[in-house]
This record gives sequence, structure tokens and C-alpha cells, in this order.
Amino acid sequence: MKKTVLITGASRGIGRATAIAFAKEDYRVIINYFQSVHPAQQLQSALREQGYDVLALQADVSNKKDVNRMMQDIKDSFGTVDILVNNAGISQQKLFTDTTEEDWDHLFDYNVKACYYCSQAVLPDMLAKKRGKIINISSIWGICGASCEVAYSASKAAVIGLTKALAKELGPSNIQVNCVAPGVINTDMNRCLDEQTLHTLCDQTPLCRLGSPEDIASAILFLADAKADFITGQIFSPNGGFLI
Ligand code: NAP
Repeated sequence: MKKTVLITGASRGIGRATAIAFAKEDYRVIINYFQSVHPAQQLQSALREQGYDVLALQADVSNKKDVNRMMQDIKDSFGTVDILVNNAGISQQKLFTDTTEEDWDHLFDYNVKACYYCSQAVLPDMLAKKRGKIINISSIWGICGASCEVAYSASKAAVIGLTKALAKELGPSNIQVNCVAPGVINTDMNRCLDEQTLHTLCDQTPLCRLGSPEDIASAILFLADAKADFITGQIFSPNGGFLI
């Protein structure tokens, strides 16, 4: 029987590549999006034309009502969620001294609270089935910290803490919780970086290039597979050797 995967923030970047990778492996894929209506609808159409079982659903995952509505829509169309990929996220570059309380709350709402809402929403069914996987997307900056990205780094470190604690709590229920902490990936999130900064980041990477969204999608796909059933509470960091 086909497994159902919910990928948050799948209209662009890493989430989009992950949706394509799962669809091609014959999962039923829910493409969550927030503001990018056309990219999400186009992705749904393109994958359906190729015969894949996908559904695009709009929800702001930092909003509990939106998450609950999305979950009801999923139940009505696909049934229960077997795998949740908490990928939706935002970044911000600012000096810590300029970071406002609104900035801080915004980053934590989108990057951390969304994981809490979505995980709580899928867990009753996973617990009943004694099976399921949650894969949270953190960042290398959540491991080592980034200058001028203190709030982002702290929110991504929180995702790592959430992963480890939840893995301990859910292990006895046969639910694996893991984290993927990507290095610097070529997506819209890094469009704000100038050429010089991107060159420097490549120079600091032993594999001498930025990662692609597909590099991260394949790591997520691996953790979702039954072959990874004995892996839980781990932080898997595809980063080209940036952090060794
Ligand atoms: P991206 O290209 O900027 O795409 C972000 C995605 O998140 C979009 O699909 C966006 O949806 C969605 N999103 C944002 N807020 C949302 C919300 N409240 N509700 C639902 N969806 C929301 O970013 P990316 O580079 O693919 O990043 C994906 C994840 O990887 C993030 O968690 C990011 O922190 C992490 N990461 C990225 C990098 C990197 O270098 N790119 C490195 C490490 C970790 P809409 O466009 O529909 O609004």
C-alpha cells in the first residue's frame, strides 16, 4: 500500500525537490504551500500529468487553525499521514542588536512552532498505528551558529532539541523522529547573498560547491524509507563537508 507523505513548504526549493523525489518513489504526496499558489498548483499539475498521486494544500503552518483545516482535508482525501516532513521555514539576516521582538517571534513561529503544530496534528494517527516518521529540517547554523543570523540559528537549534526529545518520547511507539541539517543550498532563501559571499561559502566547502535541493531531498527520502527504521533522534547533515 502506498504511503502518504506531507511536506510542508513544498512550493519551492528543498520542499519542492522533496515532493518530486517522493512522488517518483510512488508515495502519495501532499504539497503544502503558503503564499506561492501558482508554483504549487503548477507542481501538482506537472506531477499528476506524469501519473503521480499528489495534492497541493494551502496552509500557513505557523497558524494552528490552518494546520487543523489542512489535516482535515488530508483525512478526507488521502486518509492518515505516514511521514511528515517539517520543511517550511524562513531565514533572516540581521545584527542581533537590531533584531526586534517581532523578528524573533516570526522566526520561531515559522521555524519551530510550525513543527510543533504539524507534529501534534499527525501524531494521534501515528500513535494508533504504532508507526510513522517525522523528519524535521534544521540547518548547519542550528549546529554551529551563524553571525548575523542569531534568531535563525537559535530557531534551528530548537528544531534539533525538539527532534532529540521527541525521538525519545516516541521511540517506544515505533515512531522515528530525525533531523536533516543542510549546508548552504542553492534556493531562493540564499538569493539575498552577494556573489562574493557565495564564493567564500563555496571555498569553505570541501566539495567546492553549494548543495542542490535534490541533494537534500535524497537524504530526506532515505530517512523516510523502511531501510532507516533503526535510525531515530539523529541529526543528518548533508553539507559538502562544510562542517566536519
Ligand atoms: P525557500 O526556497 O525560501 O522555500 C521556503 C518554503 O517554505 C516555501 O515553499 C514557502 O512557501 C514555505 N513556507 C514558509 N513559511 C511557511 C508557512 N508559514 N507555511 C507554509 N509554508 C511556508 O527555502 P529553502 O531553502 O527551500 O528552505 C527549506 C527549509 O530548509 C527551511 O526550513 C530552511 O530553513 C532549511 N534550510 C535551508 C538552507 C538553504 O541554504 N537554502 C540551509 C539549511 C536549511 P510559500 O512560498 O508557498 O509561501
